[in-house]
Amino acid sequence: MNHEHNTEIRRHRHVVAFKKGLGPAYAYHSKNLQVAEISDDLWNQMPVADFSKAEELEISDSQISQESQDLKSWSQFETPVESLVKPENKFNLTLNITQLCNLHCHYCAAGGDGTYGDPVRQISVEKTLPQIAMLMKRLKPGGQFNITFLGGEPLMYPLAIQAIGLFTKKLAAENNIKAEFQIITNATLINDSVLDVISPIRPTITVSIDGPPEINDRQRPQKNGLKSSDQAIQGLQSLLKRKDQFGPLLLHAVFNKNHTDVEKVWEYFQQFPVDKMEFTFDVTEKSEEANRSFTESLKKAAALAFAKGQEKELRRIQFFDIYFSQLDSQTRRENHCGSGKSLLSLDSRNQIYQCPLEVSFKTRVVGIDDQINWGLLKPLEKPLIELNNCQSCWAKHLCGGGCMFNHESLTGDKHTKHPTYCFRTRHLLSEVIMYYKQTRELE
Ligand code: SF4
Ligand code: SF4
Repeated sequence: MNHEHNTEIRRHRHVVAFKKGLGPAYAYHSKNLQVAEISDDLWNQMPVADFSKAEELEISDSQISQESQDLKSWSQFETPVESLVKPENKFNLTLNITQLCNLHCHYCAAGGDGTYGDPVRQISVEKTLPQIAMLMKRLKPGGQFNITFLGGEPLMYPLAIQAIGLFTKKLAAENNIKAEFQIITNATLINDSVLDVISPIRPTITVSIDGPPEINDRQRPQKNGLKSSDQAIQGLQSLLKRKDQFGPLLLHAVFNKNHTDVEKVWEYFQQFPVDKMEFTFDVTEKSEEANRSFTESLKKAAALAFAKGQEKELRRIQFFDIYFSQLDSQTRRENHCGSGKSLLSLDSRNQIYQCPLEVSFKTRVVGIDDQINWGLLKPLEKPLIELNNCQSCWAKHLCGGGCMFNHESLTGDKHTKHPTYCFRTRHLLSEVIMYYKQTRELE
């Protein structure tokens, strides 16, 4: 794939096509998630579209070549697909072990300092266990219950993680349910004794680190203003030595207007033998220029990864891995996330919310202890692509209507998308689609 050129986009009803320079044109059917290479003739017949818009375009009836007829009949073809959100099969719970943090990241979405505006030392384990039992009851045997331990910095209290994790594992085993755990940490507190405490639940660990020390120390200083990178790298190295005792290990970097160089971070991350890397754009960042620059830089990092190791390396970038799996399964997504459906969040006071980032808004509590006001969650029963008015967007069954918290941060309304979000999402998904077609051709 030629990465020197900008991607052009064309559209006929539910089919979009992408092309870079003189390279091949790849078409994507947004209703059945199939991808095909199309001829330049057909490409030329398709109306020119725009990444910033979601309007439905159509090949005019005067253009009746055999190929455009084929495209029109492909356009009507729709495979049966299902929503990703099935609360009785899978439930995700996020849990703030603490609302304190030893770092002070400049872009922190948890109230700017890990406290969500309410510093609480540690969640009550006693109150948490019945909450887990109550939520797990909703799953059918064979289902899956996931807990993500968040903070503040969750590894300030590893014993609380262990107690909650072991209880959940036992209860899940008794009910024929699979339990999985994830910890999101800044890694600065990781040492062998902390690893001894958390290894019995074999969690997936995501280490938040924004790149080489000169970037990370600027973005993620300690609370006292000192650098944090040395401790984070030391923690990461301790973890890598015992990697076989844990689930997949991820590195996660956040970008904003002060920092958009994904390529540089990708290159820095190469020295660490982790399973995945996640590069995300700050949910509160409005800068159009930073958004474009991040998008372009992520595309370049993907090109570097693909050149290095084809699909395997490309899929070490989490975004590509998620969508390659989805294209393989041809599962139509109707919800970007399970917020309020198959996902709930606990703050450190055991109050329940629909989303981990909503914990900052005390008026958004939907439950406390083992009582949930399901009526408050009723409006979220509809698919997000409908609630967020994404019906005419070709990317809707991959994107699923986008992150409501992101939308609200940028537009003031959780169901109103900001143009920067859709621009970035559509551009990055077009890359996924083109790489996907290319790799499947190699098989
Ligand atoms: S949020 Fe996602 S699905 Fe909705 S219009 Fe934007 S890119 Fe499309
Ligand atoms: S709305 Fe956004 S932040 Fe909240 S759970 Fe969904 S994806 Fe995550």
